Amino acid sequence: MFFSRIYIERGLVEESPYVAGLLKGRFKGLRVTPINHYKDIFSRPRQEIELQKRRPAIILARKRPPYLYEGSRLCRSSADAVEVSDYYALPMMNCPMSCEYCFLRGMYPSAHLVYFVNFDEVFEEISSAIYEHSMGKIALSFESDLVYLDSILRCLEPWLDFARQHPETTFEIRTKAGGRLHFLKETRPLKNVRLAWSLSPPRLHTAFEHGSPSIGARLKAIRDAIECGWQVTICLDPILYTISWEGHYMEFISKLFTQVPPGPIQEVQIGVFRMGKEQLKEARKRYPSSQLLHYPYEIVGNTYTYPKKVAETLLSKVKGLLMEHITEERIRIVGV
Ligand code: SF4
Repeated sequence: MFFSRIYIERGLVEESPYVAGLLKGRFKGLRVTPINHYKDIFSRPRQEIELQKRRPAIILARKRPPYLYEGSRLCRSSADAVEVSDYYALPMMNCPMSCEYCFLRGMYPSAHLVYFVNFDEVFEEISSAIYEHSMGKIALSFESDLVYLDSILRCLEPWLDFARQHPETTFEIRTKAGGRLHFLKETRPLKNVRLAWSLSPPRLHTAFEHGSPSIGARLKAIRDAIECGWQVTICLDPILYTISWEGHYMEFISKLFTQVPPGPIQEVQIGVFRMGKEQLKEARKRYPSSQLLHYPYEIVGNTYTYPKKVAETLLSKVKGLLMEHITEERIRIVGV
């Protein structure tokens, strides 16, 4: 089993058939510890994050308000920033993978996963917000990877059912999952659900995306998703400024479109490394030997990113490479 143990907020087993099902099925035999509030475990000071990362615990908890958050401007394009208000929901906190460039490295005091399972309450609140504010887009996998964890937790089904009831809102689910994904074939594809695959040149995957599926496995999953009729977006984000970066992206982008047909790809999002000021400060403390985190980034507002000239070079080169395969309108630059 992937998780070392389970913590469950008191009363959830009785309240939730989903939780009872997990305990009888996939979590059978795991040590269960009842707790009052997820923060009793998750927010304790001085936790051994690197140790926890190797085999995290899972905390089944109730989501309390807020149920929706305004989308980070770091995930929007400059055109979106004015017109589109997008939001994200928080089905889970923390991710089982460990990408060196991820803001989660400096975000939480724990590497355990928190999974919010009071679906009825969460969906009721989000539905009201959708009707009230006619929300265009809600991201679902902002601080975790629902698709990757679906094989363990069956966590996609409740959210896909919810998306089915709100065809007027687009739900984006970002992932690095790879290989054979059962839900693709088991669930009817939804027009308002966009599966957004994060990809990097294989060399950068090996160097920085620790514990994540290989790029080959992700490409297979993308092909399957397209074949099954799902809407797919590709995210080359963050683009990283490393030795030989240009060669890595050149080689990867030309291979990418021999393995994935560009026609059905809805959009390719590109963005350079960026991280909130506080998160980078904390991540640098936790990972003193990470060259990536200790690069002399510049601060723009509250965000660290590459100096303007470097960022512009990275974006224009990658955009140019993409335009050999897809039209400019389908390339969206995101970030600061
Ligand atoms: S897969 Fe995404 S959320 Fe998980 S560690 Fe990597 S960048 Fe962060």
